[in-house]
Amino acid sequence: MELQTSALHAGYEKDTQGTMAVPIYQTTAYEFRDVEHAANLFALKELGNIYTRLNNPTTDVFEKRFAALEGGEAALATSSGMSAIFFAIANAAEAGDNIVCAKQLYGGSLTQTAHTLKRFGIEARFFDVHNPAAIEELVDDKTKVIFFESLTNPSIDVADIDAIVAIADKYNILTVVDNTVATPVLCRPLERGADITVHSASKYTTGQGLAIGGILVERKGLIDKLKGNARYAHFNEPDASYHGLVYTDVPLPPFTLRARLSLLRDLGAVSSPFNSWLFIQGMEHLSLRMREHSKNALELATFLESHPKVKKVNYPGLKSNSNYEMAQKYFENGLCSGLLSFEVEDMAAAEKIVNATELYSLVVNIGDSKSIITHPASTTHQQLSAEELDACGVPAGLIRISCGLESSKDLIADMKQALEA
Ligand code: PLP
Repeated sequence: MELQTSALHAGYEKDTQGTMAVPIYQTTAYEFRDVEHAANLFALKELGNIYTRLNNPTTDVFEKRFAALEGGEAALATSSGMSAIFFAIANAAEAGDNIVCAKQLYGGSLTQTAHTLKRFGIEARFFDVHNPAAIEELVDDKTKVIFFESLTNPSIDVADIDAIVAIADKYNILTVVDNTVATPVLCRPLERGADITVHSASKYTTGQGLAIGGILVERKGLIDKLKGNARYAHFNEPDASYHGLVYTDVPLPPFTLRARLSLLRDLGAVSSPFNSWLFIQGMEHLSLRMREHSKNALELATFLESHPKVKKVNYPGLKSNSNYEMAQKYFENGLCSGLLSFEVEDMAAAEKIVNATELYSLVVNIGDSKSIITHPASTTHQQLSAEELDACGVPAGLIRISCGLESSKDLIADMKQALEA
């Protein structure tokens, strides 16, 4: 099935009422037929609903549909993108292990990997996404995950997925790819051999800034990489917390199975049925939106590149951009999503432009249908000195735009008046 067909139909079989829209199963628990039925569900002899912290019919449709879009085998929805990332890493690594991460990551992912996971005894080692070869110097027998973003936020770089996957496979290490900005519409890392994708569903999946959520997706056939792999003993040995279950011995996708039965059970960062339903609505038109976001962003980037007050534009869809070739290789029809940034003279010039725009909302979010403008130096990166800002590729005059679905004519006209105000 083509992606836009799956986005409308995958994972949903109409219930007895024949409802066209997926119902919201707003419930905490489910009645068992009898004691044997309950025991069978807990023992995985029969699959079914137990308690909404573990599974829910609305969330199930969201998970199956998203897995279909990514070309994956199974998915697990979580309460936020940050919890999806935490689950992906915590499902593979424990105290004493390390993970190798691209240094071009979303700020929350940087703090989670460098600081929070450190307190759990998991060390993060960083490589430059433009230099995948450096990964080989960082991995050892305690490395459990190589983590990177396909299209990075906020630096807007494109990862060489094939090169990173080849190194990970050489050492039998799991790759976790944050595919939030590209979305499965533009990029499908699992089909190129990546093992797990994670998403903040709060962005393009909902599409209208309606809800916080996350999802992780497991590639088809991942069991072959986990089975008998000494690096991941906990997938091959009995889980004492689940009456001795060996995750690679059952005919179910092992990574999502363990994330659900162990992590979701114990940490509880579950997607609410209502939010899952919102994500299902968003997915119906995700492919249409991503084309339009990408078209608007390219037109705006082209305009900005020609404006004398703009020093530099970062958008991989521009031929002048150093990521252009990589974007052509990895993104569907070379479409590059809605995120771009540009640099003006200094902090004062940036502040003036941000304050002068009328159509762009000053917000720290991306992937909304309404366009968003952000000034990282005064918000997300406020604590950094001028030197530190330059070192992480966020100069004081940098402005980030998440291009929405307004008419590109209006977006360009408003940006022009703001630049010239
Ligand atoms: N990954 C990326 C690339 C993001 O941009 C974000 C949020 O901006 C996240 C993960 C975190 O997602 P959430 O806000 O849903 O926790």
